[in-house]
Amino acid sequence: MSDCIFCRIVEGSIPASKVYEDEELLAFRDIHPQAPLHLLIIPKKHIATLFDAEPEDAALLGRMLALAPRLAREHGSADGFRSIINTGRVGGQEVYHLHLHVLGGEQGLPAML
Ligand code: 5GP
Repeated sequence: MSDCIFCRIVEGSIPASKVYEDEELLAFRDIHPQAPLHLLIIPKKHIATLFDAEPEDAALLGRMLALAPRLAREHGSADGFRSIINTGRVGGQEVYHLHLHVLGGEQGLPAML
């Protein structure tokens, strides 16, 4: 059994509130949502961080990004959303399995940066 928590979600050995799944990607609700809508889009393949993505992963990364607006629209954030990938220690990454945060909701998000 994998010691990566998101690999375990992919395997089905720990539960998650899934909103999308295909052969390559899985999307589920963040367990500690930071906004009314807070989804995580992950590749099923274990890639620890964006630093670890290889040139041959480019299409997979593109598919992750392309899925974000679709899921935002489908889950009540048609007026916009924020997408974030935290990378490594400096980026504040806590789970070392690449994931794209999709944050939104009808009320809007506070400005950042
Ligand atoms: P990071 O800081 O690595 O970009 O974000 C990791 C995210 O994963 C956090 O927002 C955290 O709440 C979420 N998370 C951590 N463990 C679990 C889990 O077991 N299930 C779900 N659904 N989300 C998780």
